[in-house]
Amino acid sequence: MRIDNGVNGMKYAVISRGDPFTAHFVEELHKRLLQVGMVNHQELPQLVITVGGDGTMLKAVHHYMDRIEDVVFVGSHTGKLGFYTDFIHEDLDHFIDTILKNDYEDVSFPLLTAYVCNHTSCIKYNALNEMTLLNPFHTQHIDVYINDDYFESFQGTGLCISTPTGSSAYNKSLGGALIHPKIQAFQLTEIGSINNNVYRTISAPMIFPKEHHITLKAADFNEVTLTIDHMHRNLESYEYIKFLLSDRVVQFRQYTNNDFWKRVRKSFL
Ligand code: NAP
Ligand code: MN
Repeated sequence: MRIDNGVNGMKYAVISRGDPFTAHFVEELHKRLLQVGMVNHQELPQLVITVGGDGTMLKAVHHYMDRIEDVVFVGSHTGKLGFYTDFIHEDLDHFIDTILKNDYEDVSFPLLTAYVCNHTSCIKYNALNEMTLLNPFHTQHIDVYINDDYFESFQGTGLCISTPTGSSAYNKSLGGALIHPKIQAFQLTEIGSINNNVYRTISAPMIFPKEHHITLKAADFNEVTLTIDHMHRNLESYEYIKFLLSDRVVQFRQYTNNDFWKRVRKSFL
């Protein structure tokens, strides 16, 4: 049977939270997508459909990070917050109808890059929401450099560096600003900074343009954890971390007129 629609032959993948509750929906979703002529290809999809919440979207984005340029993401959520997602999962008919209409806008959200370095080498990480340097047990001492110029010495629990789309996540809990993702910028917010007659930081969220970079240096990163979205790494033997906005972007397919401020209102008010 020849099916004439915009999605015929399109390779798709489904990434779900993996619980029994979403499993049934995912099964139905596959059936319907195959019916309209789409092809399931978990390895090399063009369209990635996530079923879960933002946590599931974060996992999906990291799963396809190596070929992020070739993939477009669309999210359906299962009763969680779903800041990144457009569809409520109960409404499968509406979801399929919308996909078939082929009326959408692809929006690009920038990634944050970190180079975690010692004197011989660096490891590169990318994040969609944010990266944090955290030590919940001992006061961290971190020197902050902006574009290689010394700026301040931070004492406290940690620092959060976030993207515009991540600005509504952990950054928001820290009192950071919400930044529209059309603004090519990244933000530095403090986590539990100590301010007294000995220690002083700027104590305000700071927003940097794309061309800037910040470097965090510590004499001892022992016991410090680097979080990368939902993941974390130990920093032990590293000396400095350089953060900058990546040239790479994540593309989201938006079928509804559901821009950033509408998402903010829907999620928080
Ligand atoms: P999680 O439970 O999946 O995420 C925590 C909450 O943040 C969930 O309600 C999630 O929505 C929501 N969320 C994620 N990205 C968002 C965004 N861009 N805008 C608005 N809300 C967003 O926890 P996880 O699995 O560890 O995921 C890691 C993320 O949690 C991190 O990227 C960080 O932003 C966030 N986090 C927040 C805090 C805090 O606010 N104190 C602390 C640690 C981590 P869903 O319910 O739809 O998944
Ligand atoms: Mn989660």
